[in-house]
Amino acid sequence: MNEQQQYILAIDQGTTSSRAIVFDHAGQIVSTGQKEHEQIFPRAGWVEHDPLEIWRNIRTVVGDALTGADINRHQLAAVGITNQRETAVVWDKNTGEPVYNAIVWQDTRTNRICDELAGDEGADKYKERVGLPLATYFSGPKVKWILDNVEGAREKAEAGELLFGNTDSWVVWNLTGGTEGGVHVTDVTNASRTMLMNIATLDWNEDIAADMGIPLSMLPEIKSSSEVYGYGRKRGLLIDTPVAGILGDQQAATFGQACFEVGQAKNTYGTGNFMLINTGEELVHSENGLLTTVCYKIGDNKPVYALEGSVAVTGSLVQWVRDNLGIISSAPEIEELAQKVDDNGGCYVVPAFSGLFAPYWKSDARGAIVGLTRYVNRNHIARAVLESTAFQSAEVLEAMNADSGVDLTELKVDGGMVANETLMQFQADLLGVPVVRPKVTETTALGAAYAAGIAVGFWDGEQDVIDNWAEDKRWEPKMDTETRERSLRLWKKAVERTFDWVDDDVEAAGGE
Ligand code: ADP
Repeated sequence: MNEQQQYILAIDQGTTSSRAIVFDHAGQIVSTGQKEHEQIFPRAGWVEHDPLEIWRNIRTVVGDALTGADINRHQLAAVGITNQRETAVVWDKNTGEPVYNAIVWQDTRTNRICDELAGDEGADKYKERVGLPLATYFSGPKVKWILDNVEGAREKAEAGELLFGNTDSWVVWNLTGGTEGGVHVTDVTNASRTMLMNIATLDWNEDIAADMGIPLSMLPEIKSSSEVYGYGRKRGLLIDTPVAGILGDQQAATFGQACFEVGQAKNTYGTGNFMLINTGEELVHSENGLLTTVCYKIGDNKPVYALEGSVAVTGSLVQWVRDNLGIISSAPEIEELAQKVDDNGGCYVVPAFSGLFAPYWKSDARGAIVGLTRYVNRNHIARAVLESTAFQSAEVLEAMNADSGVDLTELKVDGGMVANETLMQFQADLLGVPVVRPKVTETTALGAAYAAGIAVGFWDGEQDVIDNWAEDKRWEPKMDTETRERSLRLWKKAVERTFDWVDDDVEAAGGE
């Protein structure tokens, strides 16, 4: 690092878009580049991305961010990566071509593979070892699907010609030279979402990889979240810039929210909702439907763990109302409609589009709108759509309180939906604790920037993150206990209506 290097670049390879953000030493945003990529839905339940489009977009947004800040790579101390987790990319290391589109975390095509792997032992077969239940959400079964279904893929994989990674690995491999010496790495947080990493020892589990038929030669080397993995190479704007941080998006947000103490938690409201609570160096196995995951690992320090409640569909339900129902033309309009009524009119929307994630883990659930009467209008439905986000997070918080034995006293929030004040107030009401929004809500990119900046000495460590964090707004709970309990009771009843929807023959007709 030298005098000139006053900035850190974060690349946020998200589910709907890729962003590049330049941060200064105070953790403030200097400039942003952002580009959406296509969501490919080949069949019901399938969700794919084109990895080459993602890589092109990243190069574009890096250029936009540097241009916006009026700087060049010489002024960057390091670049950090954060990414949509679990989304699986398999590519040929000799050509750099993906053998198939990226299979996205929301994709449910591996339902049958998961059932077969579970066998008589059930969905918790690997949970003790990897911290996760068998579910379509995670990467391992998606890699198995690609090797089973793409012609010639298994032979190539066995010959050592294919590489796998979540999108962090894909981006870092390309950034650091691709076919000409690109480094094939991932960090502990991303690896903890594959179902293939031993959660206690942070190395690949050969038995599980063998069960899924995944050759170990495909897997990236597991690194800490904050160290220099390699340098920008080849064509591209980041030549010689150290690539020095990788954190899965939700862990990055936890880091950017300065949740470094045991018991501190954040909730991100994006495409889905993801609540993480720091459990320190202790590995806590959930009894209540939460995932055990790595929160972060700084260089040679011990790993810090978290319990996570993942909810698949929250902001994407608002997108669905916009794109598939057409009753709003932009996401913020949902709030205008919701504000026209005092309550949901008895209507509940359970968006089990990809089954239900935490705390239920039911892949055969599908979405439902219940409680409909002649009285309910689109404003009530808009309100119920917003409320479903808060209800799902309230259930996750209940599970966290039960697992940790301590009740959370406040919740830090971030993500695109926290602009919605009606939702934030309702969330505080349902939780019965204050909800707190920070000044910089791009906490995901910020966390990746910190991880990279700490690795190269641009920041000293976690204290800098704590010092730079500032509160923007706080919502206090106002709802009376009786109303809260009744709402939650009705919500849970609505959730039960979505269970056991998918029959084998229906899945066969709409799916494989
Ligand atoms: P991600 O990082 O997962 O791609 P973001 O954090 O950018 O997502 O959040 C975008 C999501 O938030 C979208 O799904 C969108 O529908 C939703 N969203 C954005 N603004 C609002 C709003 N004012 N009210 C409700 N939902 C919103």
